[in-house]
Amino acid sequence: MAQASLIIWHRRGSKNNMSIDTELYSNRLRERAIIPSEQKVLIARLSGSEQEKDLTTPVNCRGYGRIRHFRLYNHDNWSPNPLPILPACKALGHPPDVVLRAQVFQNAACNWRCWYCFVDFNRLSADRRFSEYFTSSELIKLYLEDGDRPEVIDLSGGQPDLVPEWLLWIMESLRENGLDGKVFLWSDDNLSNRYFWKFLTHDQRRKIARFPKYSRVACFKGYTR
Ligand code: SF4
Repeated sequence: MAQASLIIWHRRGSKNNMSIDTELYSNRLRERAIIPSEQKVLIARLSGSEQEKDLTTPVNCRGYGRIRHFRLYNHDNWSPNPLPILPACKALGHPPDVVLRAQVFQNAACNWRCWYCFVDFNRLSADRRFSEYFTSSELIKLYLEDGDRPEVIDLSGGQPDLVPEWLLWIMESLRENGLDGKVFLWSDDNLSNRYFWKFLTHDQRRKIARFPKYSRVACFKGYTR
């Protein structure tokens, strides 16, 4: 069965009103997106993707990472984009008008399918043909191998909170490498589940909350009735 067909749809109201069963689909995706006993998370391979064609710099980290450039002002006729550059610059001691480079890794699972998403849907389906399991130590090792490594690490997706342990393990790997407080760590969340509370203990959540120079952005999606 093709992986994409695992999206679980259900019908609500009128005949064309189809929506994803978020809870059911989240559970199914999580089963494939993480190996807790080995502390491994499924990471999307960006090389060979449609997304790769839009990147301004080549994919890095053996094809599993990319560099993103954040600017406060991207376009003359558009409003400023303060995230993450304002909190990141404040934390790192830079003026807000710099161009900030971020090392991005994408977990290979998302429980939603937004029409405007720029990630290939086969990189959101926990499909082993387009992804690979990594420990956080392996990802940080790849990050450190880059001679010109960015000061920001962005854990994106995908929906990273399908596998909230990923953030904790990355923090532990940063600490083991003496990088806690030396990089600005950033993670994304589409606010679709409560796995942060379900799969992490109170102590683990407290460790995350206390980790230096960490921020999270949560996306409010559009809803229609
Ligand atoms: S929540 Fe984010 S990653 Fe998931 S489909 Fe929407 S835009 Fe894409």
